[in-house]
Amino acid sequence: MNSDLKLRIAELKERKNAIILAHNYQLSEVQLVADILGDSLELAMASAKTDADLIVFAGVDFMAETAAILNPDKKVVIPDPGARCPMAAQLPPDVIREARKKHEGAAVVLYVNTLAEAKAESDVICTSANSPQIVNALEEDTVLFGPDKNLAWFAQRRSDKKIIPIPENGYCYVHKMFTAADIALLKERYPDAEVLVHPECDPEVQQLATHVCSTSQMLLRTKASPAKRFIIATEIGLVERMRRENPSREFIPALNTAVCREMKRHTLEKVYRALKDEEHVVKVPEPIAERARASIKRMLELTGKAVQD
Ligand code: SF4
Repeated sequence: MNSDLKLRIAELKERKNAIILAHNYQLSEVQLVADILGDSLELAMASAKTDADLIVFAGVDFMAETAAILNPDKKVVIPDPGARCPMAAQLPPDVIREARKKHEGAAVVLYVNTLAEAKAESDVICTSANSPQIVNALEEDTVLFGPDKNLAWFAQRRSDKKIIPIPENGYCYVHKMFTAADIALLKERYPDAEVLVHPECDPEVQQLATHVCSTSQMLLRTKASPAKRFIIATEIGLVERMRRENPSREFIPALNTAVCREMKRHTLEKVYRALKDEEHVVKVPEPIAERARASIKRMLELTGKAVQD
């Protein structure tokens, strides 16, 4: 059944000049049909460069919106429109406007995990891979940073600027599941393992890591490191990809139940239907898209990645 669907997906992709972008947290069956598999930054970059007419985005709402913002003339579809990131919903635009009033002169740096209306209120966007780099590249000494408080803490440890989280307690429910006690236990059991932790995890968990990094940085590390064993503290989908791409090494999920329910809404069947019916279309109203686009492009410029206009 799956192999038949895969064939039909390949045939449709070719006929419609389509591309499938999938996040590292997708189900394996979806990862396997992706043209580009990666983290938020890699997928934003890929969507900015593609010549495809149709983009099928297997990720959550804010990611598909980012692709739509960067490609106003292309059709962007999401296989399941219910794939909405709860963290992105924690930062509505009025909270940003209020914070700006309260901290006049501060820059607003928003994690890519925000909805388009919030991005439109920002000065620049960042990802988990580049947040310290972006914060440190700004002229302002005070930075309003949201919505993830743990990522703000991670950036603060790597910057002399004053970073103020907005809202006060934004979080990802998946990365909140990891505890320092669990990681300490695993470190005791596997003393030779490298511990790779995502910066959306709590500070106590980050402090136990060998490296704190984005999903793509984790992948690179597992390929470059001399270690043979890794404890991975992020969503389980990435561990599946690591095992597939690096079968000679051992990957120990820090928590088997760290599953993002929203990411897992996309199935192979839904990807096929999205391609066939060209649904569900993701469109961002142009006045909002224009302002959000400027902030995304500023991120890409600050990280030295040119974007085609
Ligand atoms: S893992 Fe967390 S931040 Fe990522 S999409 Fe799921 S809820 Fe949102």
